[in-house]
Amino acid sequence: MTETMRAVQVSAAGGPFELVTRPLPEPGAGQVRVRVQACGVCHSDVFVKEGWWPGLTFPRVPGHEVAGVIDKVGPGVAFWSTGQRVGVGWFGGNCGHCDPCRRGDFISCQFLQVAGISYDGGYAEAMIAPVTALALIPADLDAVDAAPLLCAGVTTFNALRRSAARAGDVVAVLGLGGLGHLGVQYARKMGFRTVAIARGADKGPLARTLGAHHYIDSDTQNVAAELTALGGATVVLSTVTNGAAMTATIDGLAPHGSLILLGVSPDPVQVPPGSMIGKSRSVDGHPSGTAMDSQETLAFSDLAAVRPMVERVALERAAEGYDRMMSGKARFRVVLTTGQ
Ligand SMILES: [Zn+2]
Ligand SMILES: [Zn+2]
Repeated sequence: MTETMRAVQVSAAGGPFELVTRPLPEPGAGQVRVRVQACGVCHSDVFVKEGWWPGLTFPRVPGHEVAGVIDKVGPGVAFWSTGQRVGVGWFGGNCGHCDPCRRGDFISCQFLQVAGISYDGGYAEAMIAPVTALALIPADLDAVDAAPLLCAGVTTFNALRRSAARAGDVVAVLGLGGLGHLGVQYARKMGFRTVAIARGADKGPLARTLGAHHYIDSDTQNVAAELTALGGATVVLSTVTNGAAMTATIDGLAPHGSLILLGVSPDPVQVPPGSMIGKSRSVDGHPSGTAMDSQETLAFSDLAAVRPMVERVALERAAEGYDRMMSGKARFRVVLTTGQ
């Protein structure tokens, strides 16, 4: 008798999430099978749901914030073994042959695979992953807490640690959602003078609970003026999806300060040359990170007690969890659980 698993798939662009039973997949060469315990629901899952990813094939099981346990190892796999707790994030594997890979720049791989897009992801009881996509999960870190750190976490952590900011510098996090609520915690724990920027006075107490030294309400305060009053931001980490909100921070950057873009907006950021030139300011993009970056994110989060705030939803209710995420009302990350 073939073993089976439950999975939630999308069969067509814009189609519904379908709970299906599938044969338990077998790992091929260089792959492992992960028994999924938890999977975060990310806004980027929209690329699967709506079929927006170029070359996407259906049916597809989404999910790139996966935490679980290796339960089977494919041929030719060294180091990794059954029973290891692992995560799979946005970085779903690199080719190893293209020019960026040959330079060691794996995140820029021209054939980068994304879990839950290039192959079936974590909205399921099990998934197959190449070993290049695996991150070890620290023993003390719960799978439900680990899951969102594999996309929202590594994206903010890695952008901050690779930025020019040093201990004591002003670092502002724009937005207090799935990414922002982690970004504020990381900024504080990394030793920055941490500023949270969001809409509405009611988010101030939350910002302070997360570790922010300062809170700017962009509905009633001039963001650039407030940042300037603090000495200017070495980094503004933008996690919002609103180009105008990003633009409004530029004049609050310190000399050599950088606006780092993590959130995608339909409207562009307006970059006034006059604001940029004299103070050597810049606007930068930053991708999430490799599997090793994810592993280091998990390790730092464990060390420094950074945890996501999550809403747990059972796997079979994935459609509800996705709608909740899309509504923007989730506090702050929806995580699907399999009960395994
Ligand atoms: Zn994501
Ligand atoms: Zn490559």
